Amino acid sequence: MKRFENRVVIVTGAGSGIGAATARRFAVEGARVVLAGRTREKLEKVAATLPNDKHLVRVADVSDYDQVEGLVRAAVDKYGRLDVMVNNAGVASEGRATEDSVDAWHKVISIDLDGVFHGARAALPHLMKTKGCIVNTASVSGLGADWNMAFYNTAKGGVVNLTRSLALDYGRDGVRINSVCPTLTRTDLTVDMFKDEKLLDKFRERIALGRTAEPEDIADVIAFLASEDARFITGVNLPVDGGLSASNGQPPQ
Ligand code: NAD
Repeated sequence: MKRFENRVVIVTGAGSGIGAATARRFAVEGARVVLAGRTREKLEKVAATLPNDKHLVRVADVSDYDQVEGLVRAAVDKYGRLDVMVNNAGVASEGRATEDSVDAWHKVISIDLDGVFHGARAALPHLMKTKGCIVNTASVSGLGADWNMAFYNTAKGGVVNLTRSLALDYGRDGVRINSVCPTLTRTDLTVDMFKDEKLLDKFRERIALGRTAEPEDIADVIAFLASEDARFITGVNLPVDGGLSASNGQPPQ
């Protein structure tokens, strides 16, 4: 299936994990993909695995608005249009609010929340021309809270409501804005968690489908939300969590 032939797609955080799988998925479906992130070598490595050479690698830190604007400009200069903005870059944080530093708060918010706002703000003028769309990578951590992750939960909760707000404000301009809300997914971000079998068992117990996610499980849904098949979906924060959020939180008996 080639749903994105001649479409131009920016993916932030494309150097690994969900972003890399997303870049691959769009490329397989014919898109011109702009891979963005902080480390050129990581991005080049992913780019080398794409099935075509219709791609651009661009170093940009999403916490810096000027760099994100430069990223969007570079994509439009090269390909003449922008159809899909995937605001995916993110970092995790752990610890109770009194135990982690104020700097750590600002860092998480500046990447995980400001970064999504920066991507949306820079992309929207171009997406209004193409009737394009935005897909953000939020998290189940934006739909409810985790223990010991207040900074991350706050940032992702912000992404969830930013997604809804932007969907309301830009729907009449023909732009759809949605997010995916993954549960635990095997990526660089979660390497340590995937080494902890006891913890993994706890996750498997809570997830209706009985397993954690692979990056492709999330990337495929990002591509769906960006596709014509999702033309009447906007403002949705879609759990991609194997049924985790179907539970009210009480343990299985
Ligand atoms: P990952 O670490 O493999 O990917 C994140 C990417 O973002 C990395 O390549 C990193 O270099 C990049 N990045 C970090 N800070 C950046 C910045 N300031 N500017 C540009 N790029 C930056 O992890 P992942 O799991 O693929 O994470 C992708 C998204 O998925 C994140 O937003 C994360 O919060 C979200 N998410 C992940 C999980 C999970 O369990 N892995 C669950 C829910 C949501």
